[in-house]
Amino acid sequence: MNASMIPLPCKVCGGSTFSHHDVLWGDLIAQWGLSSREVDYINVQQGTACTGCGSNVRSIALADALLRWTRATTTLQEWVHTPVARRCDVLEINEAGSLTGTLSALPGHRLVRYPEYDMMALPFEDRSFDVVLHSDTLEHVPDLMKGLRECRRVLRPGGACLFTVPVVVGRLTRGRKGLPLSVHGSEGCIDTALTVHTEFGADVWCQVLESGFDECRIVPYRYPAGIALIAEVAESRPVTGGQW
Ligand SMILES: [Zn+2]
Repeated sequence: MNASMIPLPCKVCGGSTFSHHDVLWGDLIAQWGLSSREVDYINVQQGTACTGCGSNVRSIALADALLRWTRATTTLQEWVHTPVARRCDVLEINEAGSLTGTLSALPGHRLVRYPEYDMMALPFEDRSFDVVLHSDTLEHVPDLMKGLRECRRVLRPGGACLFTVPVVVGRLTRGRKGLPLSVHGSEGCIDTALTVHTEFGADVWCQVLESGFDECRIVPYRYPAGIALIAEVAESRPVTGGQW
């Protein structure tokens, strides 16, 4: 592993030892047309994990984003026991990496999974949650704008949707419509629930703003291997801004 790829201490448990295994396979690398640098950092994102809590870099990046958004200086395992966290209503869509076990300590935690729950049609009232979390799920949603709009709809003013998607930072987002079927998971996997509809690139923030969020922050735990997005709903609608 390249030295610049070695993660900082784990934001979930505070651990500082990591294990690594490569996760990408030849067919997927070819389908995505990835360079060797891109292969390296995506392998770190998915395959480098804290030996203390088992979280990989993708999960740690999401935990880091949540802690930064709440201005917490603790680990995630400590944060869930703080008064502010215990007042938070958190919707987790599919297991957000390996954070579910930690987040389930929150009184206001709710986990929903595909296919019983569809991100494009969430069965919740408007303004039901303070935080919506998902990790490497949006690329599998057929209409990503509809999915993001639903996340925004169920958030209260001042709330945020925090998420990760695989981002290839040196290119632009493209839909895979008309391209050969591409499935995440593992080599030989044919679970169509894991079909990739969108390959995200450096313009990932555009979709966030176009779906109606008021602000988008891109938070690096370890750039470019571990980045997460914070899509915020303003406390009150700004006078300026919006789309022209
Ligand atoms: Zn850890």
